[in-house]
Amino acid sequence: MNLPTFLGGVHPPEGKALTEHKAIELLRPSDSPREFVYPLGLHIGAPCSPIVKKGDTVLAGQKIADTDAFVSAPKYSAVSGTVKAIEPRMAFTGAMEMSIVIDSDGQYTPAPSLHEALGHKPTPADYVKLIRESGLVGLGGACFPTHVKLSPPKDKIIHHVIINAAECEPFLNCDNRLMLESPDEILRGLEFVLEIFPQAEGVIAIESNKPEAIQTMTEHNKNPKIRIMPLKVKYPQGAEKMIIWSVTGQEVPVVPALPADVGCIVLNTRTVWQIWAAIEKGQPVTERIVTVSGDAVVEPKNLQVPLGLSTRELVNACGGFSEEPVKIISGGPMMGIAMRSLDVPVVKGTSGVLALTKKLAYVAEESACIRCGKCVEVCPMHLEPTTLDHFVRRRQYAEFEAHGGMNCIECGSCAYTCPASRHLVQSYKDGKASVNAARRKAAAEAKAKAAAEKPAEAK
Ligand code: SF4
Ligand code: SF4
Repeated sequence: MNLPTFLGGVHPPEGKALTEHKAIELLRPSDSPREFVYPLGLHIGAPCSPIVKKGDTVLAGQKIADTDAFVSAPKYSAVSGTVKAIEPRMAFTGAMEMSIVIDSDGQYTPAPSLHEALGHKPTPADYVKLIRESGLVGLGGACFPTHVKLSPPKDKIIHHVIINAAECEPFLNCDNRLMLESPDEILRGLEFVLEIFPQAEGVIAIESNKPEAIQTMTEHNKNPKIRIMPLKVKYPQGAEKMIIWSVTGQEVPVVPALPADVGCIVLNTRTVWQIWAAIEKGQPVTERIVTVSGDAVVEPKNLQVPLGLSTRELVNACGGFSEEPVKIISGGPMMGIAMRSLDVPVVKGTSGVLALTKKLAYVAEESACIRCGKCVEVCPMHLEPTTLDHFVRRRQYAEFEAHGGMNCIECGSCAYTCPASRHLVQSYKDGKASVNAARRKAAAEAKAKAAAEKPAEAK
């Protein structure tokens, strides 16, 4: 059967078998005191400011940081305990991030629910506000605030709310397991979103390598406004623009266009589950599911863990390492970030922790481009990866931008297929960072110039 898909893409080894039949296990350590760490940033948008101070006692599900910025989301403690410090701590990126450190008392004494603060049972008019208040961001890893996605410009009619259940990254099974174990909550979460966008249909798009999830979601769905759509297995099927193309046949125009420009909103599976939790239960985001996998892990698992818990505890809960990994990745192997340390907290975007031996993490020496064109064939954004790489290495950032470099979604398909093992994705990350830095500098200079040119009396 010809299943819907997009042009380009690659077929990396799936690695799903290690955890696809492992039911989600709850890991909620109760020893005390134990440190939980909450970075104030690590989502798209403005970082939060602490609303607690050292020495304060907190409850599980209590808000500890927030901001007035629209594009941001508050942070909640997953544990009850005492604020030990507010100081820089290392995050999974390897960077030091200002963080709230809480010593857990091991009790998980709950804070009042979000419903209590609202004062009444939520109606559709409350949904977006409640979702914002719950601290929800895209839990597939992108960490874009969900309430922003659910607030498209008034002139945009939403026709499709797409649940991105492709989970195309190798090894990861968080969404797959959630569909098998909590299908009704996912469907109810989607129904809540459809109440916000009554003209839309709901589509749950699942790669066909998850037949049990497709069957389970189909059997549980009784809503004629929702359909389950199997998609061809191909990476990066779960990228927002690719899944919109596969489901609707529409292309999202280039940056800064958004899915709402083609009448779509795309939400990750766990994100929709969390929408259900916020609206139905008044629960903020305090936990997430993480796939701990890879050939260096003794017993790979899918774990539901409190945010803020050290990644090392997840690995310990899986029996540790059978042999020393040469690479540990936060996220999937295609788009994840190599970790420098396991002593970093689980955050909202931690979809996976992979520990790979040299058998799976082998990286060949980079050599000169042989101009084979394979990277061009597989690029789902129809870019010329080799040309973009050429511009970045020569610091020709204007040309990089002119050739669409800012539209690169950093999927890694080009690097995966490159016979010369060119470090293409790092090259595009560098190129994009340089263009963004130049844009910020130009904006600051324009602002300073405008301020200097203002008549003296207007100052
Ligand atoms: S795939 Fe690699 S070697 Fe081939 S053209 Fe692209 S960058 Fe060059
Ligand atoms: S150029 Fe960017 S979008 Fe294209 S394949 Fe490479 S990483 Fe993916």
